[in-house]
Amino acid sequence: MTRVALIAHDEPKPDLVEFARSHEEQLSDYELVATGTTGKRLVAETDLEVERTESGPYGGDMMIGAAVADGRLDGIIFLRDPLRAQPHEPDISALLRICDVHNIPLATNLSSAEFLIEGLENAE
Ligand code: PGA
Repeated sequence: MTRVALIAHDEPKPDLVEFARSHEEQLSDYELVATGTTGKRLVAETDLEVERTESGPYGGDMMIGAAVADGRLDGIIFLRDPLRAQPHEPDISALLRICDVHNIPLATNLSSAEFLIEGLENAE
């Protein structure tokens, strides 16, 4: 089954919730995993089932990176806040790197997220 990770920094969290809502039918066919706070919002504000890792700053990004290394993820949508420094920046960089190592698609803004989700649908 297709498995997708959803992550958003605080500022773009509403955008990710909106994105998930507008693709709810497609996403409901996938296994979804999200970092702690992002997942909490997705569960509260959509009808999607979402497995939650730790919150990003507490290791959630690294847990998602480990899933990539294990070959357990098909794509990641990670809406980052490009305007604010994040305390867990090293973990974020490590996640981006492991996606490149394993050739896993990772979208970091809404435009690339649209392409990613469309690509996953076409790949089915
Ligand atoms: P959060 O983590 O969903 O727990 O806020 C996201 C992140 O900061 O990487």
